[in-house]
Amino acid sequence: MKSHVKAVVIGGGVVGCSVLYHLAKAGWTDIMLIERSELTSGSSWHAAGGFHTLNGDPNVAKLQAYTVQLYKEIEEISGQSCSLHLTGGVMMADTPERMDFLRLAHAKGRYLGMDTELITPSEAKAMFPLMDETNFVGAMWDPVEGHLDPSGTTIAYSKAAKKLGAEIVLRNRVVDLTQQPDGTWNVVTEQGTVHAEHVVNCGGLWAREIGRMVGVELPVLAMEHMYLLTEPMPEVEEFNKSTGREMIGVLDFKGEIYTRQERNGILLGTYEKACKPWSPVNTPWDFGHELLPPDLDRIAPSLEIGFKHFPGIEKAGIKQIINGPFTFALDGNPLVGPVQGLTNFWCACAVMAGFSQGGGVGLALSNWMVHGDPGFDVWGMDVARFGEWAGLRYTNAKVRENYSRRFSIRFPNEELPAARPAQTTPLYDTMLANNAVMGDSWGLETPLWFAPKGKEPKDIVSFHRSNDFGPIGEEVRATRERVGVTEIANFAKYEVSGPGAEEFLNRLMTNRMPKTGRIVLTPMINEFGKLIGDFTIAKAGEDRFMIWGSSAAQKYHMRWFEKHLPKDGPRGSEVRIHRFDQTLVGLSIAGPKSRDLLQKLVDVDISTKAFRFMDFREMAVGGAPCMVNRITYTGDLGYEIWMAPAYERLVYKAIKDAGEEFGLVDFGMRALLSMRLEKNFPTWFRELRPIYGPFEGSMDRFIKLEKNDFIGREAAAKEQAEGPKLRRVSFIVDAADADVMGDEPIWAKVSKDFGTVEKPHGYGAPRFDDKGKEVRGSKAAEGASALRGIVDGDWRVVGWVTSGGYAHYVRKSMAQGYVPAALAEDESAGLFEIEILGHRRPARINVEAPFDPSGEKMRS
Ligand SMILES: Cc1cc2nc3c(=O)[nH]c(=O)nc-3n(C[C@H](O)[C@H](O)[C@H](O)COP(=O)(O)OP(=O)(O)OC[C@H]3O[C@@H](n4cnc5c(N)ncnc54)[C@H](O)[C@@H]3O)c2cc1C
Repeated sequence: MKSHVKAVVIGGGVVGCSVLYHLAKAGWTDIMLIERSELTSGSSWHAAGGFHTLNGDPNVAKLQAYTVQLYKEIEEISGQSCSLHLTGGVMMADTPERMDFLRLAHAKGRYLGMDTELITPSEAKAMFPLMDETNFVGAMWDPVEGHLDPSGTTIAYSKAAKKLGAEIVLRNRVVDLTQQPDGTWNVVTEQGTVHAEHVVNCGGLWAREIGRMVGVELPVLAMEHMYLLTEPMPEVEEFNKSTGREMIGVLDFKGEIYTRQERNGILLGTYEKACKPWSPVNTPWDFGHELLPPDLDRIAPSLEIGFKHFPGIEKAGIKQIINGPFTFALDGNPLVGPVQGLTNFWCACAVMAGFSQGGGVGLALSNWMVHGDPGFDVWGMDVARFGEWAGLRYTNAKVRENYSRRFSIRFPNEELPAARPAQTTPLYDTMLANNAVMGDSWGLETPLWFAPKGKEPKDIVSFHRSNDFGPIGEEVRATRERVGVTEIANFAKYEVSGPGAEEFLNRLMTNRMPKTGRIVLTPMINEFGKLIGDFTIAKAGEDRFMIWGSSAAQKYHMRWFEKHLPKDGPRGSEVRIHRFDQTLVGLSIAGPKSRDLLQKLVDVDISTKAFRFMDFREMAVGGAPCMVNRITYTGDLGYEIWMAPAYERLVYKAIKDAGEEFGLVDFGMRALLSMRLEKNFPTWFRELRPIYGPFEGSMDRFIKLEKNDFIGREAAAKEQAEGPKLRRVSFIVDAADADVMGDEPIWAKVSKDFGTVEKPHGYGAPRFDDKGKEVRGSKAAEGASALRGIVDGDWRVVGWVTSGGYAHYVRKSMAQGYVPAALAEDESAGLFEIEILGHRRPARINVEAPFDPSGEKMRS
């Protein structure tokens, strides 16, 4: 065993072996995988080996597609078979709602390059004759599904990595990790200590324990999972003989079950409601190649549905029931990337579908370690997406919820109840008393909308407009015409201070920093010139800046800030960053009467001239020390008022009392988002993501290329000089009773050449093409050919929706999305169509915001 290596990968499951292979392939060959026992000694060996490309997050779906396409490559390099069976599979819908869900998934697939097809239950039955098709209303066929041999696949990765020069050390447990002052690691193992620049946690079932070695409680939990194998079935053999094909994979939403052919019989797995965590606090180190005792009673309700839907299976004898543990994060997606607050400590764990996702995880992580960037939009699996609130018990409750609804539909207006309330503000009880419907915003209870008095404050979940439609409309109209108040404690808030603060922010942000007492809006981009943040920044004092940003990106942004803190030189320690989280809360008042209202609560002049649009001031509001921004996300005249939580009730009561004479209303997050739509304002993680350049995102006026040399300036200058290929635009959609939700395809009747359409996904670092081949520096962003290929007469898919909804004040259904730049200025009616729940609706680009296009009200 070497004593010094560039990187140590801990864990020889499918994920660790994939990370090792990808690191070696990227040129880091001085690397070592350390495995406690033999390879596949965690969950990898007893997996059902199924793989598929579908994922709720389109970016994770692309990485799944890459994983599936990779198997041939590792078979070739290693000479080890993965026993790949590319059978294809169907998802079965038993209700119209589930069919709506499949329509949405199918529409998304259009620009993701997926070749899915909506089919009838009878067509599905022809490929899986053991089903009773009368239980279903429809299905979706996906040709890129199948199964493989889990152990063979893990070994293929490991052999391929070894061929490229990587070392694998077996039967050697990592017992401790200690960090050196220079940020490198001493990896203490049973066989001695290895010094490594980087450490990767691929500990699978023990990932939590490895996290604890460095003081981190990762939000990951193992669940028991059962699948059964039947005796050989004559029906299966007969089908194989008569068709020359294997039976396909089937996923049944209602039963939360999956089933497929395994040898001459059937494999059927369940995600049962009465699910059971395994080793909820500590994973025993002596657990190895063992199975857990099966518990038929637990899966009986799922089996009952399964046997009703697939009567052919009930007749078969059960040969074996496999019960094994495997890990999940709160939302079922992996935890990948560098852990914020630590140096050179990386995660690739909580991979619940190692055989669908392992390759993509390995590629993204190796890019990140070798090139400093994952090369893809990996937010959906970034380890930074959960906060401190996701502790052991929170994780336990959320993972159980996620497991028990693994194949359930999540409606766009559906809030999931487990582990809530977690964090609350001092106004929580008041908001409940006001009949608020609460939502979870990065672990914080946040008012979404207010139900009318006497009505139960509860969402009726739906893909269509629902019971919140009327009340949100009232909130919006009252705010736009009079004044409204909403809680904005869920925004991210930071303070950057010290003599080096301004220089530091000027290096990170694309816009100039404001003068004292003023505010700017500014994107943040990475060295590839892609959007990685969008902030409101106020200069609060000589060396003090207040920053507001996206709540969910707090750890993601802190990681970036910390990475770029000046380390060397005399100013090295002169920048301090503080993340407030819930130690600072906020209320926003907006609407034409908001100034009159606020003036009643403050003892300073806040007239238009004295307190201008985009001013920042510290002042007492209702007697409480506050910071006030003259800006609101509603795009109206309005204010954001920030205070310590201890004052929030006082300030809220003062606002409510003073607001009575103006007809003040409470409004929630949904009304706020509706109002931003009619101002064409983008949102972070929807319109603005690391796959888009700032000019593509139509953020032109916030990019000051001439100000100084900020990170990504060169790339942004190039984008501007060459002209963005895409453009973010707003649409008005002729919708019926459902609005866009995001990820819908945009169709255009194309009469002119608008160049190449690309759905960007990768950038900078290596990418892969439609066939899974790595393309360095190529412009062939995957999905491009798929878009070009989707044609219907004169119409073709030219873009995708990022978000939208109903803009209540202007009474229009609106959408934002990306289209080729050459099409972005075209407002001619009827040129575009947006696919909503399978129906193409006329849409027209709306260059000017429908509400207050000149910004007069906002500035008044
Ligand atoms: C019953 C069942 C069915 C499944 N079906 C499917 C399926 O159909 N499709 C699919 O994609 N996935 C399936 N899975 C999930 C799949 O098994 C996991 O996604 C995958 O195994 C995760 O791999 P991993 O490498 O992250 O973790 P693991 O396989 O748990 O590997 C972690 C490795 O790290 C080692 N290790 C841990 N700590 C240390 C240490 N301190 N020092 C040294 N080594 C250490 C362990 O010994 C282990 O070998 C199934 C799982 C189960 C249980």
